[in-house]
Amino acid sequence: MNTLKIDNVSLVYSNGYKALTALNLEINNGIFGLLGPNGAGKSSLMKTIVGLQKPTEGSISFNGVDIVKNPLEIQKRLGFLPQYFGVYPKVSAYNLLEHLAKLKGVQNKEQRHDQIMNLLEKVNLTDVRNKEVHTFSGGMKQRFGVAQALLGAPKIVIVDEPTAGLDPEERNRFNTLLSAISEDIIIILSTHLVEDVRNLCSQMAIIKKGQVISQGSPRAYVHQL
Ligand code: ADP
Ligand code: ADP
Repeated sequence: MNTLKIDNVSLVYSNGYKALTALNLEINNGIFGLLGPNGAGKSSLMKTIVGLQKPTEGSISFNGVDIVKNPLEIQKRLGFLPQYFGVYPKVSAYNLLEHLAKLKGVQNKEQRHDQIMNLLEKVNLTDVRNKEVHTFSGGMKQRFGVAQALLGAPKIVIVDEPTAGLDPEERNRFNTLLSAISEDIIIILSTHLVEDVRNLCSQMAIIKKGQVISQGSPRAYVHQL
């Protein structure tokens, strides 16, 4: 089990804007939904977790290690699934993953190959691995993004508005995939779509004006959401 612990974290930007105020969260394996309106502080919290922003106050630990003091402890265990997939180089899906795995520091070629073939299988893109990613449909690109995010076997994967732009069928497929991979890692999903949180998340928090206003199981909030 992995545990990310956010303890009394505040973030004040250099212009004096207080983006996060005394935030407490404990996040375990599974999909954790971070819900809140635009401007609530979701991105600020994500940036703080991944080490792009140092909290002004408070501490963050991953499996007991202080990751504000030792950012590498988390940075080498992070995967990102971005919201949009714009530009892809003109190489096959396989070769792009191969290149990215190298950048991720997977040194051994056989190890890279095994990892990539496993991931392609997991996201159901084995048959199209020799095709270029820009020719993929939206849903395929999103699944490719999942494979990309999982290169290097991260323990925390950050997901931002994952189903934006997908049609309902693609969305269902994607949700099933995300649930399957969340068994032994932490997935943090930032969204303003209540539906995503309700369908996907095992735990959730609602953020408003930089503060956690409620947290727990989405089931407890179904009526409110
Ligand atoms: P969300 O992701 O929930 O939309 P953000 O974390 O992006 O919210 O933003 C929260 C607030 O912090 C917003 O009011 C935004 O304008 C402000 N903010 C974000 N980044 C900065 C920054 N670098 N400097 C000053 N204020 C910022
Ligand atoms: P290099 O150009 O570095 O010699 P190759 O293209 O010959 O690399 O491929 C090396 C290994 O990578 C192959 O033996 C194979 O295991 C794997 N490989 C390369 N492309 C694919 C692919 N599209 N699908 C599956 N495995 C591949």
